[in-house]
Amino acid sequence: MTHSPASPPPTPSPLPPVLPGTGLTRHRRLREQGSLDRADLEAVLDAGFVCHLGVVVDGHPLVVPTVYGHDGRWLYVHGSVASRSLAGDTPVCVTVTHVDGLVLARSVFEHGVNYRSAMIHGVPRKVTDPEEKLAGLRLLTEHSAPGQWSYARAPSRKELAATTLLALCLRTASVKIRTGPPDDGDGPDAALGLWAGVLPLTAVWGAPEPDPALPPHITPPEHIARREGTRHGPPASGGIP
Ligand SMILES: Cc1cc2nc3c(=O)[nH]c(=O)nc-3n(C[C@H](O)[C@H](O)[C@H](O)COP(=O)(O)OP(=O)(O)OC[C@H]3O[C@@H](n4cnc5c(N)ncnc54)[C@H](O)[C@@H]3O)c2cc1C
Repeated sequence: MTHSPASPPPTPSPLPPVLPGTGLTRHRRLREQGSLDRADLEAVLDAGFVCHLGVVVDGHPLVVPTVYGHDGRWLYVHGSVASRSLAGDTPVCVTVTHVDGLVLARSVFEHGVNYRSAMIHGVPRKVTDPEEKLAGLRLLTEHSAPGQWSYARAPSRKELAATTLLALCLRTASVKIRTGPPDDGDGPDAALGLWAGVLPLTAVWGAPEPDPALPPHITPPEHIARREGTRHGPPASGGIP
């Protein structure tokens, strides 16, 4: 469904706090890692800013890494009007993945990954309402770099015209989360005497690296400088303020 510039942004009914178990989203394998809590979905989305957009283009699957923003109801992705993956009005699957550690078991078979991941299924719409487009782009920018929308130059009319913004409803989504040690601590392999456990993995923002073209008196603004040594996202999502 496309929306003409004249049509108001759609106002969907409130999304249920429990994620619906549809034929698409019902976990079939590793079900114990599944969560139906919408709060978990939001936490996974808050903790990242890169997703993988899966879409079939001309009969071939494309899985495109791209940044996103969300407001709890809509997930926004953007790109060039020339992007074939951003055509909209066709089914997509968006995945967000955070790797928290390697699970090293006694047997190779029991090795795994501690992770938080979300999959969102649906048919995204192309945002054409100018107000929603600007708001969506702002959300997307602020999601990866809070404070940057009002710091950087705003998009020009020409830049806006060159940009596609897709909105995907967060209604049909699923979450999986694995935490904890390997599963073979109480099995026969425990007697092998091998080390087993978790090797944690944490992504932390580094020190800002100035553009060599910058005059030396221009220093990083506070909203960028303060991120050094922190994780992405609010504390509830695993990030550190
Ligand atoms: C970093 C990482 C590494 C992984 N490595 C492996 C691996 O090596 N081998 C392996 O078997 N599995 C692995 N998994 C788990 C994997 O993502 C699948 O959950 C699992 O393999 C089940 O796949 P399936 O095709 O049977 O899905 P099904 O259970 O048939 O999927 C049904 C529905 O469940 C939901 N779903 C499935 N997986 C996920 C997910 N990860 N997050 C959110 N929703 C989901 C989707 O809505 C999907 O449409 C890994 C996960 C992560 C995040």
